[in-house]
Amino acid sequence: PAALVWFRRDLRDFDHAALSHALQAHARVFCAFVFDTDILDALPSRQDRRVSFIHASLAELDARLREKGGGLIVRHGRAEEEIPRLANELKVVTVFANHDYEPAAIARDTRVANSLKDNGIVFRSFKDQVIFERREILTQSGKPFGVFTPYKNAWLRSVQPRDLGAWPVADFAGHLASPPEGSHLPALSALGFETCDLRVAPGMSGGEALWEAFTGRINQYHAARDFPAVKGVSYLSTHLRFGTVSIRALAGNAHARSGAGAESWLSELIWREFYQQLLFNHPHVVEHAYKPEFDALHWEQGPAADALFDAWCEGRTGYPLVDAAQRQLLASGFMHNRLRMVSASFLTKDLGIHWLRGERFFAQWLLDYDLAANNGGWQWAASTGCDAQPWFRIFNPITQSEKFDPQGKFIRRYVPELAAVPDKFIHAPWKLKPAEQNAIGCVIGRHYPAPSVDHATAREHTLARFKAIRSEH
Ligand code: FAD
Repeated sequence: PAALVWFRRDLRDFDHAALSHALQAHARVFCAFVFDTDILDALPSRQDRRVSFIHASLAELDARLREKGGGLIVRHGRAEEEIPRLANELKVVTVFANHDYEPAAIARDTRVANSLKDNGIVFRSFKDQVIFERREILTQSGKPFGVFTPYKNAWLRSVQPRDLGAWPVADFAGHLASPPEGSHLPALSALGFETCDLRVAPGMSGGEALWEAFTGRINQYHAARDFPAVKGVSYLSTHLRFGTVSIRALAGNAHARSGAGAESWLSELIWREFYQQLLFNHPHVVEHAYKPEFDALHWEQGPAADALFDAWCEGRTGYPLVDAAQRQLLASGFMHNRLRMVSASFLTKDLGIHWLRGERFFAQWLLDYDLAANNGGWQWAASTGCDAQPWFRIFNPITQSEKFDPQGKFIRRYVPELAAVPDKFIHAPWKLKPAEQNAIGCVIGRHYPAPSVDHATAREHTLARFKAIRSEH
């Protein structure tokens, strides 16, 4: 009997749990992807880099599956209707997929499984995108971890070679079934989307090339990772998000290496799993503070706050590093991790705007957008999360800039109007004397905005905001 593998955030043809299980158990295995209108219709723009990334990655996946005698069936519609319909058409007995831990995906998969069951078809799903999932790593009292370091230590104590081993595909590729006639990948325009320029090469080949390049830098990762002007990080997040790389191959490689660089990078991969298990075990974080008392925080609202929010979105806060960060996001779909922390802290603690507004803005623009990591990162910065930045520790956007972009190299790349500002003033250009501003053609308030808030005053407001909660509880 035949089976169907439903690809989602696992767009590769190697080390793939669902594909491997299907091929080992069935003589004929079809492969499918659905451009899910439940997701696509909710996107605010028809120019979405993620849709372009997925489309290009699917083209490569389809070509590689065809080389092996298979191919990809691509549908456009509601996944929860398309998958049961396709399973019936192909007369498969089982549909295979990999786990997704987002609440909406879990609900969708439950509906798909029920609908398949009504037709006598089995739905089977597997752990694939993480080394440890759900409730696999628990505290001694059997609870999910809410603090990172003990979670990481437990993760490192638990990991065995078998957890990092690949799910074989190539050995069983003879079982791949070729798609029915006419099931080609539709053009992006047929899906109603425009093709976007991608600064990250998509597909398995793009992931492979980035990883190859990063292996030459991984030993310096711990020292270079915080400097946005330096090529210190791996830039693999989008590939990890869409599964064009294998987490087992990456984590296994980092785990086998010695040295502070590889250790620190593995630790970031563990943060990724920490937030995934957090989302699975505490789905209320999607809309609420992890710590419920922080839902009562009084955030700034109204027209003045809306204007500040717009300025933040567009990179015109008057704080150069924050503006460079926001403009990097708009221009490329990426933002360096240090800058995500600085920018999120600025929105929530300097502008006093609700973390959910920032989280949703990032969700709209990040190519690597991942609900678990984004929500975790925002709640960390806003101090509403588990193991978050303590609320009384407030990033100073000028000090952060001096420390992590000392010569303003990154700032100048994204905020060209500050190009001529001397290094000494690049972090706080309003401190230049008016005559100096005139001389270099960068007048604050005309060529570049004046600071939208005063940091010292904003800091006091934030401390008061949090203290009010403490006295209420
Ligand atoms: P590297 O430094 O090379 O790290 C390797 C991998 O580890 C990353 O690709 C990522 O998968 C994982 N990782 C690293 N840091 C974190 C972290 N703090 N939390 C979870 N996973 C991590 N990451 C996303 O993948 N998607 C998001 O939507 C996202 N939103 C964020 C929002 C905020 C406010 C903050 C503070 C962080 C967010 N992160 C998010 C985490 C982190 O900023 C990015 O993963 C990282 O910048 C991606 O670059 P890289 O691949 O070069 O990372």
